[in-house]
Amino acid sequence: MNNNQEKPQKLRSLCYSELKRFKNCPKEFWLRYNRVDEDSVTVETPEAIIGEIVHRVASGQDHPRRVKKLLEKFQAQGILVADNLVELEKQCQSQIKTARSLKKLDSSTKTHTEKTFRYDHKFTNSEGEVVEITLVAKPDRIGHFEEKGKTIPEITELKTTDNPHSSHLKQLLYAALVYSRRRFLEKWQTVATKLVLNYAPKPDAITGVKTGTGVIETSFASQYRLEEYLTNEIEPAIEEINRRMATGAFPANVSPGRCRNCPFAAQCNEYQASLNEQPIQGGHS
Ligand code: SF4
Repeated sequence: MNNNQEKPQKLRSLCYSELKRFKNCPKEFWLRYNRVDEDSVTVETPEAIIGEIVHRVASGQDHPRRVKKLLEKFQAQGILVADNLVELEKQCQSQIKTARSLKKLDSSTKTHTEKTFRYDHKFTNSEGEVVEITLVAKPDRIGHFEEKGKTIPEITELKTTDNPHSSHLKQLLYAALVYSRRRFLEKWQTVATKLVLNYAPKPDAITGVKTGTGVIETSFASQYRLEEYLTNEIEPAIEEINRRMATGAFPANVSPGRCRNCPFAAQCNEYQASLNEQPIQGGHS
């Protein structure tokens, strides 16, 4: 596929990371959308590449010894733009260790792991047009447990960070929505879904080594909560993306912390201009 070729002017599929990217910076979303195959799980930032490799190794799909080879492969394919592979390999190995210790802490019953779920959704937008979209999710763990004669689904995300963020819960909500809609089709699920965020342990203040247990955050989301998330946040975002696609108007949202790690930083005029607008440091004469 020619990556420079513009995609059709309607969104066909959406995963949580794309939704988050659009909300953080519409321009980054658009640049990436026009560069890669929308059905692939191809990743670009060093952080996302590390995440992909850690997932592969921690789930047994690959071996820690192949980390360097994987990084080189992503680099050769042009997916990873980085020249510090030694440092990235060190980060991968460190996060693999953390992910393995998290796995030991994860006691949920697992029926599916590392599986991609797709749900074909249809809704009517504010203009009265029918929008068709495939929602895609790939949760770390899906399990079920019995309680009072009911089967409760449990969805877990293993986080290699020790720093909780509100987007982590949204990611779980998105996965729970896709999974429950996929599993129960259009019927309402009568039980709440258990959502589990399994964070890495904090490093020891003196040695910097991560020991002990991490934090496990648990919550429950009713089907009503999932539907509310779909209609109040996901559908409006899809509608906005489609509207912007007609004109290609995806504004940049410059934020130095995020832009530094953006794969499009070098070609983003707004970010480059912001670098030249730094206040001149200095005292009074
Ligand atoms: S460099 Fe910043 S403003 Fe530009 S596309 Fe990337 S995230 Fe958006």
